[in-house]
Order: sequence, then C-alpha cells, then structure tokens
Amino acid sequence: MTNSLVLVLNSGSSSLKFALIDAATGDACLTGLGECFGLPEAVISWKYDGQKSEEAISAPDNHHQHAINRIVTLVESLGMTDKLVAVGHRVVHGGEKFTSTVQIDDSVLAEIENLADLAPLHNPAGAKGIRAAMDAFPALPQFAVFDTAFHQTMPPKAFTGGIANELYTEYGIRRYGFHGTSHYFVSREAAKVVNKPVEEANFISVHLGNGASVCAVRNGESVDTSMGFTPLAGLMMGTRSGDLDPGIIEFLLKKGWTSEQVFDTLNKKSGFLGVSGLTSDARGILEAMENGHEGAKLAFEVFTYRVAKYIGSYMVALGSLDGIIFTGGIGENSLPIRREILSYLKVFGFIEDEAGNEAARFGAAGVVATSAMMDAVAMVIPTNEEWVIAQQSVALLK
Ligand code: AMP
Repeated sequence: MTNSLVLVLNSGSSSLKFALIDAATGDACLTGLGECFGLPEAVISWKYDGQKSEEAISAPDNHHQHAINRIVTLVESLGMTDKLVAVGHRVVHGGEKFTSTVQIDDSVLAEIENLADLAPLHNPAGAKGIRAAMDAFPALPQFAVFDTAFHQTMPPKAFTGGIANELYTEYGIRRYGFHGTSHYFVSREAAKVVNKPVEEANFISVHLGNGASVCAVRNGESVDTSMGFTPLAGLMMGTRSGDLDPGIIEFLLKKGWTSEQVFDTLNKKSGFLGVSGLTSDARGILEAMENGHEGAKLAFEVFTYRVAKYIGSYMVALGSLDGIIFTGGIGENSLPIRREILSYLKVFGFIEDEAGNEAARFGAAGVVATSAMMDAVAMVIPTNEEWVIAQQSVALLK
C-alpha cells in the first residue's frame, strides 16, 4: 500500500457512493454506499477487508453531510486518515467549461451549480456532496472529474444537432456525452492490449451497464459518442429509451400526457424494463428469455441490434479500427449479449474467439473476437472510473 489514498465520492440526489482508492494501484481498500437519502430509511453500508457493515443514518435531514461525517470517522477508525491526500468527486456535467479534471475552489463549485440547468438531477446533488466533503475534510484538496470532459474533443459535426444554431448559442443545446471517465480508462487499457500508443490507435468503446453508451476514440480522443444533451440519448438502456423520434413526444403531449409523465416514462419505464414488461436488469432478461418470455427476447434483440448499429456507424467515424472494447456490468459479464452483438459484426470480418469470450467475465479482461479484414480485435476491459478519479486528482496535486 502506498501513502496516496484518495477518497472518491459519487453523489447522487438520494445516494452517495464512496471508495478509498490507492492511486498507484487502483485497489479499493474501502467501498460503500449511502442510500435512501431524504427518507426515514436512510442507510450507509460499506465493505472493508471482505466484511460488510451497515448502519442507519438516524439524523432527520441533510443525509449527504451525515453520510460524509460517518465516512470521516470510518476512515479514522481504520487508521487511514494520515494516508488520505485528496478527495475526488465524480461530477456529471461540466458543460463546455470543463475539459479536464480541476481542483475545486469556490468559483468551480459555483460553476458546477450553474450547470444545474443542463443536469438538474445530477449537478445539484454533486455540489451538495462537494460542500459536505469540504466541511468534513477542510485540510484536503478536492478535485472534480467530469463525465462530459473526455468528450469535449468532439468536432462540431459530431456535437451539433440538426437544429437552429440559436438553440446552441442561447441555451447550450448540443451533444455533450457522458461516461467519459470510463471511455477514457478502457481506451488506455485497450492500447496496451493492441500494443500501440493510445495516441496512434482507434477504438470503439462500448460501455453497457444500467446506463449505456458507445464512444468513437480516435488517437486517444473522443470524436463521437451516443449519449447526447442528456444521458437519455443513444442506446436503449436498463430503463431509458435511448434515441427516439422527437415527434413521439408531441404526439403524447397532444394525447394529454404531461411532460413529466412523458420523460418519467422515457427515463424510468422504458429500455429493458419497458420493452420486456418485466425487469430493467440484464440478468433477469437473459433468464426470462431462456424460459421463453417473448418480451424479454424482444428487449434482448432491440438492445443488441442497436449496439451493433452504433458500432457500425462509428466505423465510419473512425475510418480505421484497432479494437472494440466491451465494458460496464453487461459488457464485462454477459456472454450471450456480447455473442449476439459480435454476430452482427461478421460483416466487418469479426470472428468470435469462443473460448476467449466464455472466459472474459467477473473482472477478467480478454480478447473475444478478431477481424483479419479490419486488423482489429474485440476485447473485454473491466472499467475502473474510481481509479481514474484518484489518479487524476493525485496528478494535479503534483
Ligand atoms: P452497471 O450499471 O455497470 O453496474 O451494470 C449493471 C448491469 O449489468 C445490470 O443490467 C446487470 O444485470 C448486468 N450484469 C451484471 N452481471 C451480469 C452477468 N453476469 N450477466 C449479465 N448481466 C450482468
């Protein structure tokens, strides 16, 4: 263990994920989750040395602050306070302002709060977590790592919507993209697999989890990605629709739906859950499909077809390819989903390495297909966003 531990915090509106990360190795010596914030059943749980613990948060309000105070005493009781060098925060939206990780001061915090307009669910929660952490760790430098930052290299042709330019200049409506920290990490790891500097390699990074996105990474930089102005765009996801004809929204509004009902449906009742009528969880979809559930089969087909179509379109964005990367809970673990996506990619010469595909799960990386035609491989690379947050925080410290 080195002396450089970074506390990584990921604040949601009603939750707080945390991890104590060794910035040199990426090992997490402590991981935990505060959840049900704002409700009487608010709770904090953590895992240390293989042991799980859980405690109710008995305070009536400000559960972010109470959870962070508990993390302070937890870190103290584990004797790790002296090794803590920084706090790194995952912040969802950095707009066009933040193109890389920054140290947080009052003006950065104010900017993050200003960007709430673009990410009303996420940025206020992120700012709340930052404030609570600044109070709890006044002596430690705090850093913000933005989900959008990696995609700020996209060219205008990729980030501009086919809409009136005033909507961009007045309101900032454009493609921003998310999951940037994950796409950044796995593309660096993939470069090691293909034995090239990342600055000379082209990858299609396919992050498939509850949220899902695809990113075209050219010479180490994002040049296109499937999420857009919000994380609702692109692939079908656990509960999110992904791309759809905007005319559907007008149609539903005319049918008497409120905009809240429409967007609640598109964000929380669509995707695997909506199409299958069963579950948002990929494992549940696969199990039900094996038992002959038609809705689950359709959800599987829509999901995999759409991923494959995005991969095909990013071949165009990149021009040449060194690798396709599968990551995220589904991408890292689901053999049937990877197999189905790969079967569409035969047109690009990809042939599944069945043994490799079967072995790549539960945190194991590996090559799952090769294409002589493209001179490329498809591989599984487990993502580690926390490590990126820790590394980038420590890099700025130096
Ligand atoms: P994430 O959001 O990255 O944590 O990914 C969550 C998704 O990964 C859920 O849909 C899970 O069902 C899926 N997942 C996790 N493990 C497996 C597995 N062994 N097989 C299929 N899907 C999995």
